Amino acid sequence: MTTAPHTAEDLRVLAEQAGRDLEEASALDVLRWAADTFGPRFCVTSSMEDAVVAHLASRALPGVDVVFLDTGYHFPETIGTRDAVAAVMDVNVITISPRQSVAEQDAQYGPKLHDRDPDLCCALRKVAPLEEGLRGYDAWATGLRRDESPTRANTPVVAWDAKRQKVKIAPIARWTQDDVEAYVAEHGVLTNPLLMDGYASVGCAPCTRRVLEGEDARAGRWAGLGKTECGIHL
Ligand code: SF4
Repeated sequence: MTTAPHTAEDLRVLAEQAGRDLEEASALDVLRWAADTFGPRFCVTSSMEDAVVAHLASRALPGVDVVFLDTGYHFPETIGTRDAVAAVMDVNVITISPRQSVAEQDAQYGPKLHDRDPDLCCALRKVAPLEEGLRGYDAWATGLRRDESPTRANTPVVAWDAKRQKVKIAPIARWTQDDVEAYVAEHGVLTNPLLMDGYASVGCAPCTRRVLEGEDARAGRWAGLGKTECGIHL
């Protein structure tokens, strides 16, 4: 197992080669490659919508780090899912908080920044904390899927994240919603209770609504604001 830090150039070459080699590999094989290649310098990020990628990663690397960004605006169900994941799964949940509390942000920028400038709110409460949370890792895995929305249709399974100088892995990029549900059922994986209550994608409470019949999974995120991504995956 390789645990020493790689140079950025090593990582870029590794990512590009793996992107070609692993496009058709199973999610578990992709994560086994990540575990073998990066060891503890690999982590999973999770929004706690479900614990599918965390579960898969724990099979490849027991005790794997799972990074959760606590924006201060999560639904109680999301925090409960995080706590349940930490309690019952063979993972190490790491919660990262923004530099400012919601009250401190309100004092500096005014209340409900999410309604007035969601890009800035996400930059402060998600993007910047992610940079902090990923420090010390060479590679990170996400639950991005191509079928979630048109903006995610070309998500690579493994790619070079030039912005962060890390390898970015989307082991379930090729999965469908049916694949996710089958895995959850087969392995009894924890999911956010809001998924049973009309929500197809779970983000911060002020920026998430239930989806309507025929809408894509992410239509309930920042509805009406012309925003589709928080910035973490751009
Ligand atoms: S999703 Fe909404 S509340 Fe959460 S960080 Fe982004 S703008 Fe702020």
